[in-house]
Amino acid sequence: MQSIGHFINGQHIAGDGRTQPVYNPATGEAEKVVALASSEIVGQAIAAAQAAFPLWRDTPPLKRAQVMFRYKQLLEAHAEEICRLITDEHGKVLDDAMGELVRGIEVVEYACGAPELLKGEHSKNVGPGIDSWSEFQPLGVVAGITPFNFPVMVPMWMFPLALVCGNTFILKPSERDPSAGLRIAELLQEAGLPDGVFNLVNGDREAVECLLHDSRVQAVSFVGSTLVAETIYRAGTAAGKRVQALGGAKNHAVVMPDADLDNAVNALMGAAYGSCGERCMAISVVVCVGDTVADQVVAKLADQLTHLKVRPGAEEGSEMGPLVTQVHLQKVRGYVDRGVEEGAQLVVDGRALQVAGYEKGFFLGGCLFDHVTPSMSIYREEIFGPVLCVVRADDLQKAMELIDDHEYGNGTCIFTRDGEAARYFSDHIKVGMVGVNVPLPVPVAYHSFGGWKRSLFGDLYAYGPDAVRFYTRRKTITQRWPSGALREGTRFSFPTL
Ligand code: NAD
Repeated sequence: MQSIGHFINGQHIAGDGRTQPVYNPATGEAEKVVALASSEIVGQAIAAAQAAFPLWRDTPPLKRAQVMFRYKQLLEAHAEEICRLITDEHGKVLDDAMGELVRGIEVVEYACGAPELLKGEHSKNVGPGIDSWSEFQPLGVVAGITPFNFPVMVPMWMFPLALVCGNTFILKPSERDPSAGLRIAELLQEAGLPDGVFNLVNGDREAVECLLHDSRVQAVSFVGSTLVAETIYRAGTAAGKRVQALGGAKNHAVVMPDADLDNAVNALMGAAYGSCGERCMAISVVVCVGDTVADQVVAKLADQLTHLKVRPGAEEGSEMGPLVTQVHLQKVRGYVDRGVEEGAQLVVDGRALQVAGYEKGFFLGGCLFDHVTPSMSIYREEIFGPVLCVVRADDLQKAMELIDDHEYGNGTCIFTRDGEAARYFSDHIKVGMVGVNVPLPVPVAYHSFGGWKRSLFGDLYAYGPDAVRFYTRRKTITQRWPSGALREGTRFSFPTL
């Protein structure tokens, strides 16, 4: 059985103890094992990153960007291979894996602009013969801890920018689908990144705790579930580190009575059931304004669900693959059971789905609940599966109150033809990323990604301009070259012009 280890200082390192099986979710078979790093292994990675920092810090931004130009080409040349690795371990369909890779490559492209991004700010003559400028210096060794649902894109939200800013990096990817992360680490080396500048340790909580408590690690970027995000934010900041921790979500879409309903339902199908609902921007609640809209939306969704092709992600024509693991499948099924017990109307029940030839796979058919209320656990909690809840609201104000009252605030969207309603919604809603007739408003690489409320702990968002600020420290230098009249006399008052 293939064993997946670590990548430290430009070399593959075998595991030294604990391991965990890695499943192909379509077959339900454990096809590989992944090493779970001990504190010694994590220590080796930190030492390598620390040793590589001085040289990399002083490498001109243009040279760092040139590595990223080569990296982009390599990622594109190996795209199909990377996507197959994603699908084999995550389960998502191949073109969805390609979508994730392409969005990750866009961050690499943004990072290619490093010389421009790091230019700093300059002011001449802030005083007689005095110039002042702010520059943005790297932090040192920084770490990224990432979830299973985007094994390539989420790491690429982090390391391309951390690296071009002059930091060295340690990635701790999800132990559930580690192969694609390892492959993109190898390609970084092929692109010319010096050894030790990027290191990857596979592992679980033990590895994360080592990264959090080691004083050589200056900053931590985390993406995952909310409880872990909050714990990491608290522990990391208590240890004096800069931390950004992106957490879970429960994204609502509002459908207004004037919306183009067929367009909205098509969009909702992809946003709710794409990637088997395992996206932090997935729409998991539809708030229909008025019963007439609700009845129509539910009927149209139910009809489309009967045609949804649920098959292995690598199979041609498959629209939705399996869930990531058996444990996760049981968790999601448990929510569907609970929704029924709590009195929601299960309009489409995917629990009985059998995929011919893949009876041991972790498949669940698309599920649709109507008449969901805010007190139900299927409404309050993140399910992270192919389960869509329809809630009915009397008007836009009531729909917005529901969204604002929810503990999560990652993404949301409104389907409408009414510009005034759309503008009011996007202006006032308490959510970090808003779509108007756009179901998955994931910002492009030159903006930044982040939610509000318990979907993000920290101040700065992922990738884009916020990431440049997160991965650098501002230093402001004030300079005078005294000569003649500009020479300093003795004075004891606070300096003014
Ligand atoms: P997870 O929280 O279980 O794991 C995320 C990472 O944290 C993994 O690397 C894992 O090994 C590590 N980890 C898990 N438990 C830990 C613990 N107790 N202590 C320290 N480290 C721990 O998340 P997941 O199941 O892999 O991913 C799904 C979750 O991620 C969902 O909640 C989803 O909404 C969220 N997510 C959020 C975003 C976002 O941008 N806000 C993006 C993608 C995923």
